[in-house]
Amino acid sequence: MAEETIFSKIIRKEIPADVVYQDDLVTAFRDVQPQAPTHILIVPNKEIPTVDDVTAEDEPAMGRMLRVAAELAREEGLAEDGYRLIINCGDHGGQEVYHIHMHLLGGRRLGRMLGGS
Ligand code: 5GP
Repeated sequence: MAEETIFSKIIRKEIPADVVYQDDLVTAFRDVQPQAPTHILIVPNKEIPTVDDVTAEDEPAMGRMLRVAAELAREEGLAEDGYRLIINCGDHGGQEVYHIHMHLLGGRRLGRMLGGS
């Protein structure tokens, strides 16, 4: 089994977070260090470390993440101007928390896709 991260504790409501959505497959909460006016993380409730660990049985949760991201983007008023979804994978991808998460970023022009360092 995957090693537990802080996100599992957030999913189980054992530590505080600004949870904006939760269902049987996914949980969404605001990033503690927002990089844009809206910065929400959408995570599967199941502990899956990285995109590289996704299997066929995870397809429903992966699909739900995308649909919930679109729904939250609409709720946050981002749909018209646009927004960005990011999933970092592994060291070179800049992943810090090893529980798959999709970043929903918006509310300002986000500029070029890759930042540097
Ligand atoms: P990564 O670099 O792994 O793609 O992104 C991890 C994200 O999780 C970062 O944007 C970071 O600010 C966020 N994060 C890390 N720990 C916590 C936490 O305890 N609570 C919340 N809400 N976000 C966190």
